[in-house]
Amino acid sequence: MCKITTHHHSKLDKNITNAKTTVIEIESFNKKLDHEIVSLINQISLDNIKSKLMKLSSYHTRHTKSKYINEVAEWLKNEFENIGYENVSFHEYTEKLERYSYDLKNIICNKIGHNNKCIIICAHYDSRMENYLDYYSKAPGANDNASGVSAILEIARILYNKKLNYNLQFVFFSGEEQNLLGSEQYAKFIRKNNLNLHRLINLDMIGYPKFNPGKIIIERDVNESERYNRVVFNDKDSIKCGNVMVEMCTYTDLYPKLDQIYGSDYEPFEKRGYIVVGAYDGSAETKKNPHYHSVSDTPEKIDWDYLTSVTKIVLATIFTLDKEIKPNID
Ligand SMILES: [Zn+2]
Repeated sequence: MCKITTHHHSKLDKNITNAKTTVIEIESFNKKLDHEIVSLINQISLDNIKSKLMKLSSYHTRHTKSKYINEVAEWLKNEFENIGYENVSFHEYTEKLERYSYDLKNIICNKIGHNNKCIIICAHYDSRMENYLDYYSKAPGANDNASGVSAILEIARILYNKKLNYNLQFVFFSGEEQNLLGSEQYAKFIRKNNLNLHRLINLDMIGYPKFNPGKIIIERDVNESERYNRVVFNDKDSIKCGNVMVEMCTYTDLYPKLDQIYGSDYEPFEKRGYIVVGAYDGSAETKKNPHYHSVSDTPEKIDWDYLTSVTKIVLATIFTLDKEIKPNID
């Protein structure tokens, strides 16, 4: 080894030194990251998640055509403002459904970071019954999808005082049960306004693991069907992002189960080439799950420890994605 000419020699030493430093640096960086993640996820309050989910399920229905939908939108906006967020707004759109026109709202809560890239964490807040046109029957929608909404409210509370690199948008969509109306409108809007969307994480049904006990389904953009995978150049990064979620499962008692995106609000973003993933409990099974899109989708059916664990995984994922920028050694 030492027979190599001087200048080359010192470069090699430098590389070895750097390599060692890199490993040490990264190890300590990961250890520090690990501590930061543990201290963050330990702040998650099940009581908070429970109270938000119970409140959302207390509305007679959150059907997109019902008189309650905009009342719920106001309440959700207030929830973000009660945490302290000032940059909270409605993304308003109008849809014609069965001859009538509906003025609807998506809720957008912004958390500003240090660069112009943005991570969206989203969930739909509308609910439905077996008949998706039935907007007058009681539809508590505890798991579908008050579970996703209440998890995001808790994550927004914990990250409020945290300085992050990326901008975050916490987004609640209406119209998901009417064929992704709100998310289609918002995906069109961010494209038109050139929002630099880095990653999108969608939460839809994360509180009822009856059919996947001890597992969380991590949905990646690898669907073979063009129906759900319109663009391929965003697949690889979705897999990578999914792998971060897989890794974050180690902070909980849940095991990751890999699956494909389909049937939720990430679709309008995927088809525009954005990088998307989802978390899901696997219970949207009409035949197997009697509570799916039913009056019996109530808070009593929710597995609170499971919902808390999924919330931890998502929070840890956001924080790790935000720390993608490794310390600069040179
Ligand atoms: Zn849903």
